[in-house]
Amino acid sequence: MQVDISNYNKKIKDTIFFNIIEKYNKELNKLNKEKEKIKDVIKKARGHRELTCLCCDSIYKIKDLIYIQTYWHIPPHGCTGGDYWVQGEGYFICPNCNVRNRLLSSNEYSLEYEDRNTMKNSLVRFNRYYKPEFKDRIDETKEHEKLKFVNIAVGKDFIVEE
Ligand SMILES: [Zn+2]
Repeated sequence: MQVDISNYNKKIKDTIFFNIIEKYNKELNKLNKEKEKIKDVIKKARGHRELTCLCCDSIYKIKDLIYIQTYWHIPPHGCTGGDYWVQGEGYFICPNCNVRNRLLSSNEYSLEYEDRNTMKNSLVRFNRYYKPEFKDRIDETKEHEKLKFVNIAVGKDFIVEE
């Protein structure tokens, strides 16, 4: 009986590559699990960051506040135009004094107009990273409540992200 050496070698080589794939897939899965754990720690820490009511100086953790997202209605116009909602500003109502704290961009970097909706805007970054960590998020499509308001300038102090 003759043994085909070349074929046998090929099989060994293939096994080696199979083992490499298997080993590093396991390694990758382990790292991914570690990454998810780290992401959770970061998310929790974001929820523990604080916002101060500019009216009464009460301090709240983000995870204890409700984020209210406003929308503007563009009324129908022409044949097919309008009749849709546009996302507006966000705010929270101070549980102590009932004043609306509007979350606005501090624009400390003198943002160019065309960059207003990009990650260069500290408010855009705040909304991306911190909005999900509020206790709840409520959409407001009606006329704003006629509550008094103050303006919080969201700035650099909230930018610790990449
Ligand atoms: Zn207050």
